[in-house]
Amino acid sequence: MAVIRFDKVSKSYGQTVVLENIDLTIDDNEFLAVVGPSGAGKTTLLRMLLSQEKPSRGRILIDDVPIADEPMPDRGIVFQRYSVFPHRTVLRNVMMGPEWLAAPLTGRLFGMQRAELRDRAQAMLDRVGLGGHAGLYPAQLSGGQQQRLAIAQALMTRPKVLLLDEPFGALDPGTRRAMHTLVLELWREHRMTVVMVTHDLSEAFHLGTRVIAVDKSRHDPHAPHRFGSVVTSDFEAKLRLVRRLHDEAQAAG
Ligand code: ADP
Repeated sequence: MAVIRFDKVSKSYGQTVVLENIDLTIDDNEFLAVVGPSGAGKTTLLRMLLSQEKPSRGRILIDDVPIADEPMPDRGIVFQRYSVFPHRTVLRNVMMGPEWLAAPLTGRLFGMQRAELRDRAQAMLDRVGLGGHAGLYPAQLSGGQQQRLAIAQALMTRPKVLLLDEPFGALDPGTRRAMHTLVLELWREHRMTVVMVTHDLSEAFHLGTRVIAVDKSRHDPHAPHRFGSVVTSDFEAKLRLVRRLHDEAQAAG
């Protein structure tokens, strides 16, 4: 289970208000896509969900429990670039998260434990289509393969919440489509709650079970930093309706 709740969350940097009084509940197993103009605070929203930033006001809860102050393995993240460790092989990259969790002082497991983790890492690589690349380094992979690796790495700690920050933004359209298919399959298999930031509206509506837009709703021309972004649109109900009509049309042949 992972129900995420933003409870009157605001975020400011100095005098600049970025997000204002966000009240938002994200259901268990929802795939939420967040869209909005550049600088609207989308990444800030994700960074707060990961505990990389703290709300200036309000709180964020997962399953009714305030989130920990530190990034924890219950939340995985994939960025547009640089999610993986360049000096580690593909296999080591996916083993590292669980290794640090199991052996926080040394980051290394031995014997049976290591063998089991290696098998699980190899199975995860097979699942994302990188089974034959375990011994390579990230620089030897294509952009799409690096994002497959980043997703595999994020999933290894079995997160309840997967955060995606423009994960496919740097990929060509063909690779993007293949990644969409993969991420939808993994979302269904792992039953995670997903929050994805994207600039691409068609991507948002293709992947999301719900799409929200964040933007400023108030402007003060004399003090542009005075107001932050709020949730300006929420397309959940519309999406449900469109999906139901689509399913009915398919059922009718
Ligand atoms: P988006 O992801 O929607 O493009 P961001 O969340 O990256 O927007 O940024 C929102 C605003 O917050 C921007 O104006 C940015 O300059 C500001 N901001 C983000 N992080 C910091 C920070 N660490 N210190 C000061 N300002 C920041």
